[in-house]
Amino acid sequence: MMKKGRGLAFLVGATLLGVWMSSCQNLSSAALGYVNRDSIEGIEQEEIVQIKKPLLLDKWDSLQKNQIHFVVDTLKPIDIKTQKKMLKDSLRREFDKKPKHVFLTFDDGPLVGSAAIDSLAKAKNIKVNVFLVGRHASVIKGRKRDLANYEKNPLVACYNHSYTHAYNKYSHFYSNPVTAFEDFEKNEKELNLKHKIVRLPGRNIWIYDNVRKIDLQSGASTADMLFANGYKIYGWDVEWRINSLTGVPVQSLESVYTKMRNFLNYQSSMTPNNVILLMHDDMFQTKKGQQLLAGLIDSLKKENYHFEFMQDYPIKY
Ligand SMILES: [Zn+2]
Repeated sequence: MMKKGRGLAFLVGATLLGVWMSSCQNLSSAALGYVNRDSIEGIEQEEIVQIKKPLLLDKWDSLQKNQIHFVVDTLKPIDIKTQKKMLKDSLRREFDKKPKHVFLTFDDGPLVGSAAIDSLAKAKNIKVNVFLVGRHASVIKGRKRDLANYEKNPLVACYNHSYTHAYNKYSHFYSNPVTAFEDFEKNEKELNLKHKIVRLPGRNIWIYDNVRKIDLQSGASTADMLFANGYKIYGWDVEWRINSLTGVPVQSLESVYTKMRNFLNYQSSMTPNNVILLMHDDMFQTKKGQQLLAGLIDSLKKENYHFEFMQDYPIKY
């Protein structure tokens, strides 16, 4: 069935290519008075390769959304459920051949703990992402210094987590989307943020490209308004919590690492081969917390995962 599907795509593609080629030939004939066969053959080949190799992700999404039409062959009947599983498995094998990407994201900084993240990014030579709260940098001198260090570290990408963090009163904050929106705008201005990339305080909401995933309705209007104004809103796939004062993890290092690996191996994250981990800056104010983070980074490095910036999310195959 898969071969048949590809064959059909090829046929449609070839027909389209024919139409495109003839108009192209007409153009070049009219303009140049002759047709260069070599270059057209070159284009033809390139075009066919593109048609034969659509993004794995597109096929994956179509399968997830039940948009692929399966037919049971009368000569060699395979039920639809089995066909679906076979296609899913074959896509998984294809994804597994591609690189896997991890996005370490740290929220609420600058806070005590930010300096350790900044140093670890340099020591381990990995890219990290910080979603910043401007108000935290406005009062205490030490936090201003942490922010400045983030800004000058090329391995740290700075993004928007609102200016006030809703003063931790989320429903009230999101009940007025206009003032909430202005709070993000203020943060962007105060911190001179280069990217229109946002994470909403207290909400795991995603809106980017053609994706819209809302965990709690309160917050959706603010997110829609941000998206309409050119922002991308990203949530997270996996969260790690460590007690900020004691350094005792709520989820062990092994369990977080295993969860990330499973998400990547079983394509269960928002985008296959991409996984976003949420942490908070204050988790790394103790030696114990810092050692745990270093340990996680080492484990992820051993798997040859690529550490990425959120501005490059999602990395599609
Ligand atoms: Zn937060």
